[in-house]
Amino acid sequence: MKDINVLVINCGSSSLKFQLINSKSEEVIAKGLCERIGIEGSKMTYAPAGGAKQETETPMKDHTQAVELVLHALTDAKTGVVKSLDEIGAVGHRIVHGGEDFASSTLITDEVMKAIEKCNDLAPLHNPANLIGIRACMELMPETPMVAVFDTAFHQTMPEEAYLYGIPYHYYEDYKVRRYGFHGTSHSYVSKRAAKLLDQKYEDLKIIVCHLGNGASISAVKNGKCVDTSMGLTPLEGLIMGTRSGDLDPAIIEFLCNKEGKSVNEILSVLNKESGVLGLSGGFSSDFRDLEKAYHAGDAAAVRTMKAFAYRVAKYIGAYTAAMNGVDVICFTAGIGENNPLTRTMVASYLGYLGIELDEEANAKRGEDVLISIPSSRTKVFVIPTNEELAIARETVALI
Ligand code: ADP
Repeated sequence: MKDINVLVINCGSSSLKFQLINSKSEEVIAKGLCERIGIEGSKMTYAPAGGAKQETETPMKDHTQAVELVLHALTDAKTGVVKSLDEIGAVGHRIVHGGEDFASSTLITDEVMKAIEKCNDLAPLHNPANLIGIRACMELMPETPMVAVFDTAFHQTMPEEAYLYGIPYHYYEDYKVRRYGFHGTSHSYVSKRAAKLLDQKYEDLKIIVCHLGNGASISAVKNGKCVDTSMGLTPLEGLIMGTRSGDLDPAIIEFLCNKEGKSVNEILSVLNKESGVLGLSGGFSSDFRDLEKAYHAGDAAAVRTMKAFAYRVAKYIGAYTAAMNGVDVICFTAGIGENNPLTRTMVASYLGYLGIELDEEANAKRGEDVLISIPSSRTKVFVIPTNEELAIARETVALI
């Protein structure tokens, strides 16, 4: 195994998350976050392993300046973790949309940059920010190899019948309107981890991964390949999420435009930002910690919201079990999947037909890989904490 430090960069439109990971020990050497880039009140949070977390309010007019500050913090004589930039062997960039061009991670070249740019209209909020992050790093570390790891790549193995929508075929040919799926790095990492934990070959298993965070998606992984996933052309489709609606009748959009006198854009903003569990709970909360508390207190809004969320997950599990003609293992991951036993119990209550029974003591554990189904359960159920940064670091090292 190579022994280098990999800087993992995840750029949002006004944020930049980073981790410096050693490829041999796989330990996080330092991590942090730049927020409100280009907006008043920019702030950097920096935490070296074993050291105190620092928060600095400092102007960042753009992502280049944010990357500069990150590199400065990492090499700082007092609080830094490396002596110079030479000790950063590679940079791994998380890229949201790779379209049909990228079925795997790739070393970044000029052609790759152009191809990523071509996908901008498929992810107008994310891809431009990702490209800015790459350019900023290239400017400051021109000799360091950089790798692009795509959220969509893992799902590129889906068969046509899973990725095509029932609309005129020429929309696919003309505009590439199809299902792409997201959270691919997480689905890949967690499904592989499940095979390891079972001590079985990845290629022999039928796995369903439920990535339940603020954004939530579910995938079916058969014989080591993704065969379906719930997010679509954009991350709006599929499960009910923190603030996103997930699946709905497309005619609802025009109906609401007429009723509310709003434009399509305005209704889409409602579907992205004011819907999901936040909307269903009548604006109460998008956070499952609040919802769970209210659920236990018998609050009707929290009860209907959590029930609807769990039901949608269970429905997808049923669909993907059919798609794979069976399922050997179901994995829960991300904020809710890892930390909310009640949601897991509610989902599992639909899965008796798979011979699933949860071990409630194991289901109460947190923060580790844990088998939460009883030993005799025909289909195994795991909680597996996801680690997208580590997955990106591994992909990066494999390519340089
Ligand atoms: P994303 O990365 O998509 O922003 P996360 O994977 O961080 O989302 O998940 C965020 C959600 O996880 C929160 O909104 C919250 O509902 C849930 N969550 C996080 N920690 C806990 C916890 N300790 N108990 C219950 N739910 C939690």
